[in-house]
Parts: sequence; structure tokens; C-alpha cells
Amino acid sequence: MTDPNASVLLADPRSAVSGLRCRECGQSYEITAQHACEFCFGPLEVVYDLERVRETCSRAAIEAGPPSMWRYAPLLPVLSAERVDIGAGWTRLRQAPRLAAELGLHKLWIKSDAGNPTNSFKDRVVSVALSAARSFGYEVAACASTGNLANAVAAHAAAAGMESVVFIPADLEPAKIAATSVYGGTVVGIDGSYDDVNRLCAQLAGERPWAFVNMNLRPFYAEGSKTLAFEVAEQLGWRRPDAVVVPVASGSLLTKVAKGFRELDAVGLVPASESVAVHGAQAEGCSPVAAAFASGARDVQTVRAHTIAKSLAIGTPADGHYALEEVRSSGGAIAGVPEGDIEAGIRLLARTEGIFTETAGGVTVSALEQLVRQGAIAPDEETVVLITGIGLKTLDALGPVSPSTTVRPSLDAVERALEEVLR
Ligand SMILES: *Cc1c(COP(=O)(O)O)cnc(C)c1O
Ligand SMILES: [Zn+2]
Repeated sequence: MTDPNASVLLADPRSAVSGLRCRECGQSYEITAQHACEFCFGPLEVVYDLERVRETCSRAAIEAGPPSMWRYAPLLPVLSAERVDIGAGWTRLRQAPRLAAELGLHKLWIKSDAGNPTNSFKDRVVSVALSAARSFGYEVAACASTGNLANAVAAHAAAAGMESVVFIPADLEPAKIAATSVYGGTVVGIDGSYDDVNRLCAQLAGERPWAFVNMNLRPFYAEGSKTLAFEVAEQLGWRRPDAVVVPVASGSLLTKVAKGFRELDAVGLVPASESVAVHGAQAEGCSPVAAAFASGARDVQTVRAHTIAKSLAIGTPADGHYALEEVRSSGGAIAGVPEGDIEAGIRLLARTEGIFTETAGGVTVSALEQLVRQGAIAPDEETVVLITGIGLKTLDALGPVSPSTTVRPSLDAVERALEEVLR
């Protein structure tokens, strides 16, 4: 296909995708690589024939599916090409009794996406976006990234035999740069913030026949995040929790997790209980959505990002407005966590549950602590925390590291040192 943007595709029969629709004015579109409404510039969203899913999709059929996010194919935009699947999803949901006790909660679960192929939740969105990209005939995968997306795009593109060109802020964590360039694609560092990177990519996307996963393919990309909600519900025994805590950068993850929980109800896979209270987590160094929530504002004001949680450093969140709406309508709240609490959150999760998360996870755990302390989450609410990335990519957040003690290789010296340290 020479002009991917002009292509219109029929969905694969395994999927109930019926088209795209504008979130603002409701205008319908065929399935194309398009993300903005021609009439009002509103964002486009994938639409499904949920009645058909309700009739044809059962819990048993899903349970018999693959141990990956693609077990939910009926509720994903499956198009014509072979899927780009390197094993994203179906990550563990673990009970977190020691962290729960420390925070004063009765039932707490951790859904850790550190176990994904490139160790963050971004593998979910990229698996869907690149599957769509291949269906549309694109040969080059691209993105504007705060780090984890670059890793996921480079890895999935490599496995699909596609070229990749990713754009990142040049001051990204070295581990995130290494975990991108190792896959052999092109990495372009921009001397500026993520918001600068994003603006440049929006211009490039208009000029090049590339699949920018979080721009022209954004409607497909975003759907991948729903699988976190699907998995949580299935892993809880086909029911929804009372509350979920979600880190917020562009706001896409939070918006789609809320949508995912609603869709399960709409297709009859979970009991029609109370809806899930959806809570957001941001770092104070970049908390435009938390600030709008706190002030009661309807819209999100742009900020200049200065946070060590680089994966959340988006000062102009594309879906911030929708994330706000989801949080408010579900009875949730959005916490803005002091920068100084991020490291404490990382250490708290590691110390209590043996899970080493990145700075975004430190923000999420600290946000949970704050939400419980302020009464936004009650002790008896069954709560799920989404841990979206791994700590090995953001080692700098822990400051200088060294062993507890260093001694000569003699038993005597070891015994004396142990007496000191273990005292
Ligand atoms: C990208 C990212 C998020 C948030 O993603 P949005 O959908 O842009 O809000 C959360 N956690 C981690 C680790 C991420 O990389
Ligand atoms: Zn519109």
C-alpha cells in the first residue's frame, strides 16, 4: 500500500469493531489511520458492536484464549494483518497485604506491568497500534516518547520487521535510551521537553507516511490500555474492584481503564455492581490534571514539567480533560505527590511487597498513601494499584548506591562488620 492514510479497512471477523467516532460531536468514520475529527478536531475513538460481543463472547471463551492481552480480541480493534504480539499483557495481579497493613487498608492488590516484554504497560498499547499500522500498510513505526513508549515501539517494530524512528527528550534516563537503541531502530534525542518533542512529531506526522503510534494511530493505541481493566476483573474472578489508582501522563491510560471496566459491564462479563472509583496519580513537578481536579476547573491548564518521574512528564496532557471527567463522574480523586515522596513510594513498595518500580510507580504508591490519608479511599474499599513500570530503568531516583558495608575477604572482618550493621 503506497498511501496508508487513504486506506479504509474492514475489521477482522474476530473483532466487533464497527468504526471510529468523534468523542466531541459524535461524527462516525470508517476505520482509517486518522485520529482527529474533520469537523470539530475532537479525538476519534474506536467503536464496537457491544450487543454482538454480548451475544457471542463468554467468560469461558476468554479463559480458553492465549495468556496475553489478546485473549480479549473481541473487545480490541483487530484488523486484517497478522498481529504484532511479543507477549504483552496477562501480567500478575498480586495481593499486597503488607503494604495494605502499613497504609491501613483491608484489601489491596498490585497489578504490576513490570513483567511485560519491555517492562512497562506501554507494550499493551504498542501491540495494538503496530498491529493496526501493519494492517494499514505502514512500514515505519514512530512515536514521541517519555521513555517507555520508545522501548516498546522499538522492540515491537524489530519483531515485526518494521523500521522504527522514535523521538525522545535528550535528557532521558540512560537505561531508557539503551533499552530503545538496542533494538536497532533510530533514536532521535530532542534538546527540549517532552512537550517540545510532541509538538515536533505532530508536525512530522503530517509530512511523513509513518505510523506515529500515539498520534495518527492514537485511537488504536489507546484501546490497548483497556486490557489492564479486563485482566484485573478476570483475575478477581470476573468482578470489579471498588477503587483503582492509575498514574497519569497524557491521561489516556486512566481514561481507557475506566472505559474498559464499563465495557465489561455492557457486555455482561461482570455483575452490574457499583462503578469503580477511578483515582489518578501525578507528581507535583508536573501535575496539571491534579491541579485542575483540586481547583474544580473544567479544563486542564498547560504547565512546564519539572519532575523526576520523567515517564509522567507531560505538561500538555492530550486526554487530561477526559481523565478529569472519568475521575469526577466515578467519585475518585487525583493526588499530586510532592517530588520528595517519589523515592519514598518506590522504597515502600519494594520493602513491603518485593516489587521494584520506577519513578511513576513511586508516584502511584505515594498517591495511594495520600488518598487513604485524606479519606478519598476508605479502609474497607477493595483497591487495585496499577504499577506501570520497572525500577531498573530509573536507578538515579535512588541516589548514590553502595552496599550496606564493604569489608576485606576475611571471616573475622565480616563478623565485625555484621555486628555493626545489624545492631
Ligand atoms: C506512559 C506511562 C504512563 C501514563 O500514560 P498516559 O496514558 O500517557 O497517561 C504511566 N506509567 C508509565 C510507567 C508510563 O510509561
Ligand atoms: Zn467531531
